Amino acid sequence: MSASSPSQAKEQDDDTKPLWTYVTKIKSVGGGGNYEIKCNICDFTFNGSYTKVRAHLLKMMRKGVRVCQKVTIDKLIDLKKIDNEATLRVERSKTKSVSLPPVSTQHQMDTNTLGVDPKKRKTSTVENAFNFQDRETLDHEIARMFYSSGLPFHLARNPHYRKAFAYAANNQISGYQPPGYNKLRTTLLQNERRHVENLLQPIKNAWSQKGVSIVSDGWSDPQRRSLINFMAVTESGPMFLKTIDCSNEIKDKDFIAKHMREVIMEVGHSNVVQIVTNNATVCKAAGVHVSSIRCRSFIVNHNINKYDLFLTTIALNPFA
Ligand SMILES: [Zn+2]
Repeated sequence: MSASSPSQAKEQDDDTKPLWTYVTKIKSVGGGGNYEIKCNICDFTFNGSYTKVRAHLLKMMRKGVRVCQKVTIDKLIDLKKIDNEATLRVERSKTKSVSLPPVSTQHQMDTNTLGVDPKKRKTSTVENAFNFQDRETLDHEIARMFYSSGLPFHLARNPHYRKAFAYAANNQISGYQPPGYNKLRTTLLQNERRHVENLLQPIKNAWSQKGVSIVSDGWSDPQRRSLINFMAVTESGPMFLKTIDCSNEIKDKDFIAKHMREVIMEVGHSNVVQIVTNNATVCKAAGVHVSSIRCRSFIVNHNINKYDLFLTTIALNPFA
C-alpha cells in the first residue's frame, strides 16, 4: 500500500536526520525538501532544508542561516553527539561493494588438466554460445544473496526459487526488476492469500453438509517456539486454520478455551462435530469451558504419537 510510504520516510528521517525533531516544518517551500522552518528552541523562522537546520542548531557560521541564540554549550554538545551518531549510521548503511570471485577459473583449470595452454586457448564458440561467464557471474551474485542475508541453503531446493529463475531465463523480460520490499508485503501477499482462500472454498462449502472435526495440538517449531495449531478436518480433506505462538503466554485453560472458541466460531459452531486434542490437563479443562457452546463431543486423544506427526507435517505445509 502506498499509504505506508510517508510513515516510512518519516522513520528514515528520524534515523538519519534526527535534528528535524528540534524544529517545526511550517510549510513546504518550492519543493525539493525545502520548508519554512521554525526553531523549537528560539522560535526563529527561516527557509531551507535539513542542511540549514543543522547549521542553525549546531551554530555553524557562514552557512546562510542565523545560528541559534538559545542553544547553550551543554545543549550544543548533546546535539553534536546526536548528529555524529546519525552520520555514522548513514556511513555504515552504505553498502560496501566487495568484488565477486573471478569467473571462468574453473574452465581454465579444466583446460589445464587437459594439457592445453590457457594463454594459447581462445574462447570457444560453444563457450560463447552458452554464456559461461555470464552464468558464473549470476551464480556468484545468487550465492552472495544467500551468504549476505543468511538465507538457509535448503532454499536452493525450493521449487519456486528455481522456477523464478527458469522463468526469467526463458522469457526475455528485458529490464525486469524483482519485486521490492513493499510489493512483497502488500499486493503480492494479498493476491496470494485471496487465491489460496478461493482454492479452499470448496472444502469450506462441504463443512455444513459433512460436519467438521477440529483437531488441535501443541508442538515446538525449530526455533523452539511453543505453538498450538488448529485444523479443520472433514471428509473432503484437512484444512489448516491457524497456529498461535504462545511462547510468551501462560497456557492455562482460559487461554486455550479462548482460542478454541474463536476457531469454533470461525468454522461455525453448528458445523463442529467434535474436537480432538491431546490429553494435557489444560486442554481437558478448556474442553469443559468450550462444551458450553454445544459442541457435540470433545475427544481427548491419549495416544497421539502417529497423529501428532501427521498433524505437524500438515501444519508445516499449510498450503501444500
Ligand atoms: Zn534556534
